[in-house]
Amino acid sequence: MDERIKSQLKIYDSLTREKKVFEPLNESFVGMYVCGPTVYNHVHLGNCRTFTSFDVIFRYLKFLGYTVRYVRNITDVGHLVNDADEGEDKIAKEAKANDLEPMEVVQKYTSGFHQIMRELNNLSPSIEPTATGHIIEQIEMAKALLEKGLAYEVNGSVYFDVEKYHEQKHYGRLSGRKIEELATGQREIEGTKDKKSPLDFALWKKAIKGHIMRWPSPWGEGFPGWHIECSAMGKKYLGEVFDIHGGGMDLKFPHHECEIAQASGVTGQDPVQYWMHTNMLTVNGQRMGKSVGNAILPQELFKGDHELLDKAYSPMVLRFAMLQTHYRSTMDLSNDALRAAEKGYKRLINALNALEKLTTLKSDTQEIDNKLDEEINKLVDTIFHGLNDDFNTARAIASLFNLVKKINGFYTGQLNLQDISNQTFNRTYKAFKAVFFDILGLKVEAPADAEKLIENFVNEYKKAKSIRDFEAVDRMREYFKENGLAFRDMKEKIDWVLEE
Ligand code: AMP
Ligand code: ZN
Repeated sequence: MDERIKSQLKIYDSLTREKKVFEPLNESFVGMYVCGPTVYNHVHLGNCRTFTSFDVIFRYLKFLGYTVRYVRNITDVGHLVNDADEGEDKIAKEAKANDLEPMEVVQKYTSGFHQIMRELNNLSPSIEPTATGHIIEQIEMAKALLEKGLAYEVNGSVYFDVEKYHEQKHYGRLSGRKIEELATGQREIEGTKDKKSPLDFALWKKAIKGHIMRWPSPWGEGFPGWHIECSAMGKKYLGEVFDIHGGGMDLKFPHHECEIAQASGVTGQDPVQYWMHTNMLTVNGQRMGKSVGNAILPQELFKGDHELLDKAYSPMVLRFAMLQTHYRSTMDLSNDALRAAEKGYKRLINALNALEKLTTLKSDTQEIDNKLDEEINKLVDTIFHGLNDDFNTARAIASLFNLVKKINGFYTGQLNLQDISNQTFNRTYKAFKAVFFDILGLKVEAPADAEKLIENFVNEYKKAKSIRDFEAVDRMREYFKENGLAFRDMKEKIDWVLEE
């Protein structure tokens, strides 16, 4: 690994609101926690965007040579409807409605989630812990907060005492909310019930009669609050303080604000070095969400089976479309954006194929065109400058396209391949492949029978051209196009590419 590139990575921290040079706690190890899905329904494209953004972050850190422990949890208990402390558990509600065991619901949607992650070529996290598998750790943390005087028990439930915590530490730092405003805002929405203050949140809830997900605890039968699972599992697998914690922007408050309060309440330390939040995927400017009623499922997009879509788009086109926007910007999903991504994605594959062919043509260089050689090296550098600028994949891809112009120049003969050094060519070849496959996590989705089609047609096409049978030429071109391919007429030979 190029140490110079590695040392230039900067990450935007949502807590300090600064872009900081990345310095992990341990020299070569990075601990990263990302809040995973609540598995009570299918993940939609918005969820997929967040997990794909963190997949690229995971991939890039690994590319830089770090050993990364990536923990992404599965929320399978404790997340109540309305994201509040009252009401039904999302999973229990779904189970009841369909006459299923809660764990059947969890299994079904966890499997579905994994399937989509695979289709999008997202790597598996290093650990995928479940909330129900860590009830003991959550109880232990609630006990520790009780001992510190930062929590109190009422009627079999345990609540975090926000005002007490706020006397020592600032509650609302991450989300930028003021505790006074929060207090007045909340009182209007929700009755205080057992809580001393409406700001307080549940660490443990008593299970009332009929609540099906329940475990024994020192306070009677109940279930954990939503926020405590991530604090407990983050601490267990990554330690009291770790490098990166992420999730979508909508999790800043209350979820991550509460996580900071819980963890620093126990240890006295800020638990996370870099808080990372992905921006929202929107449709017509509105955040995509199940509750908003505008959720599009990945399968609907892959089949083109949705009223807002004019055709089907493949998983890699979706992935590429997502990466063409920086993770901290909103991304509006549209046919135009998807169509442009499809075109761009094909252009990259064609360049990849061209680059592969160029390797056989590159020979030792007698006289190097220094200007061109330097230009190519700079283009490669700018790809990494983009990635180092808070994982700005949009910038990196724009630079990649500038490099594609040069690759195509060499391929068509406009530029002379022998004008650049072997070293520069090899660096370009390696960097292009590493960025495409390893960092952006793209795969080649060529039409399945492309090779066969080409085998059958190239000779006929050549013949038709040589005898100037343009009708036959057009027919073949048309047929090729229907299969997503195009002939490329070169000086010496006929080649094929994906129709862009
Ligand atoms: P959930 O299962 O609802 O907790 O969501 C799982 C992840 O997806 C969380 O990190 C959310 O912040 C994120 N998320 C939800 N909606 C969107 C959206 N429209 N765009 C991007 N990320 C989202
Ligand atoms: Zn979480």
